Amino acid sequence: MKDREKKEEATHPGKRAASRTAEDLKKDVLRFCRERGVDLVGFAPAERWDEAAEVPPDFRPRAIWAPARTVIVMGVEMPLPIVETTPSVVHMELYKTANIELDRLAYDLMRRLNRRGHASFFFPRDGYGSMRALRENNRAAFAHVPAAKYAGLGTIGASHNLLTPGFGPRVRLVSVFTSAEIPPDPMLGKELCIKCEACAQCCPKGAIRMRPDRVVGDYDDQACLAMAEELVAQRCFPCGICTKVCPIGKDRILYKQPGVMKKYLGEAEALAANPDDPQYQAWTHLRKYGVARGKKQGTGKE
Ligand code: SF4
Ligand code: SF4
Repeated sequence: MKDREKKEEATHPGKRAASRTAEDLKKDVLRFCRERGVDLVGFAPAERWDEAAEVPPDFRPRAIWAPARTVIVMGVEMPLPIVETTPSVVHMELYKTANIELDRLAYDLMRRLNRRGHASFFFPRDGYGSMRALRENNRAAFAHVPAAKYAGLGTIGASHNLLTPGFGPRVRLVSVFTSAEIPPDPMLGKELCIKCEACAQCCPKGAIRMRPDRVVGDYDDQACLAMAEELVAQRCFPCGICTKVCPIGKDRILYKQPGVMKKYLGEAEALAANPDDPQYQAWTHLRKYGVARGKKQGTGKE
């Protein structure tokens, strides 16, 4: 033991042991995540919600579950080639698969922590039962996006999505609250959103408006909800066009698509002029099948 450590042990007996236990617990959670193929994981102390004061008090972890000391946020990738087909049945199935996987991960991690003597709780990746519920009260009881920001996984972009270095906004998230104090991860110091406006320009409902004075844009939640309701009626939700077109994320390096931003920005107009435009054939092919269409396909501006 070094002199400094010996001194600390003498003045605060048990403190070093407690911090070693906390580090070991963090390693155990990281091992769980590695073994289970979690793409992103971060640790946020519950007081970050109070310090930031961005989330209303009733929506903060300790208000929801008083013993909470740490929120562990896990994320899984939504692969770009499938997100690009939205709205489509393949995108809907990916969304469902990611959600089931996240709930399973959170459920298993919660029970693993409980078995180790750390009381835990998880909030599922979605927190609403129907479109009607959202129409009446358009928010979940707990939001994973600020949780992920406080856990150091990313920053919030103009689109109100979490932007991550690895996958931009193409991630789904879930949060596990635990009574254990686990060493936190630092929050990202730099905004990832480059204010390119692609999300605002491509949103079919005009629900995102850029703000000159800040990164996070104005967001018309009722307009976005109207889009979701149309797609639920067609059984090919969610929309996610704002996640598709965001240029942020190393996943773009993996999928190598030169000129794709131009393609995104021109899509609505090109398909309105020619629904069989060959440039978009791969995406429109996947939108045509497996879904009972109403009068509109859901990619064009109103
Ligand atoms: S999900 Fe669709 S409708 Fe909602 S903000 Fe994003 S692009 Fe617009
Ligand atoms: S599309 Fe552009 S403006 Fe919108 S969140 Fe992504 S980087 Fe920011």
